[in-house]
Amino acid sequence: MNYRVEDITKEGILVEGERDVHWLKGLFPDKKSSESKFIAPLSYAIHLSRSDSLVFVSGRISLKVELSCSRCLERFILSLNPDFDISLSPAQFQNLPAEMELQKEDLDKEFYDGEVIDLEAIIQHQIIFAMPFYPLCRENCKGLCPHCGINKNQETCQCSDKEFVDPRLSGLKNFFKK
Ligand SMILES: [Zn+2]
Ligand SMILES: [Zn+2]
Repeated sequence: MNYRVEDITKEGILVEGERDVHWLKGLFPDKKSSESKFIAPLSYAIHLSRSDSLVFVSGRISLKVELSCSRCLERFILSLNPDFDISLSPAQFQNLPAEMELQKEDLDKEFYDGEVIDLEAIIQHQIIFAMPFYPLCRENCKGLCPHCGINKNQETCQCSDKEFVDPRLSGLKNFFKK
């Protein structure tokens, strides 16, 4: 998915397509407990245009990913639809520090080698930035009981919450004791 800069016009070109899940394999390092798995074809619609040496890339990516909830550890499916609008300038110097590419504040200003736009790398960057740092199966996931380990979204347990009671709820607790 490389586009020669000289082929990109001012009016621009629209690049649309799909990639199967295998295309994303290896995008994330394997961490057994929190392994991310892409589960549906990824689709994209991206517009490329150019003004002199500055290249503009905007578009939207749609994908579905299966993740582990950070609180209850259940697997769940998340739809991600990152859209983006970036401009790329030709790299002015060699040996750009690698970590610079991965800083979010630099995301809307990237570099290319002066000749070719690597759309594949751009899409992969966008997916990495769209992935939640702390994935939750639902906003109010109750997580696991710290005593018996049951999933509190599915079951309730009789464990004493004495040490763990939320001060905002302690009044309510005393009310029930009466
Ligand atoms: Zn959860
Ligand atoms: Zn419990």
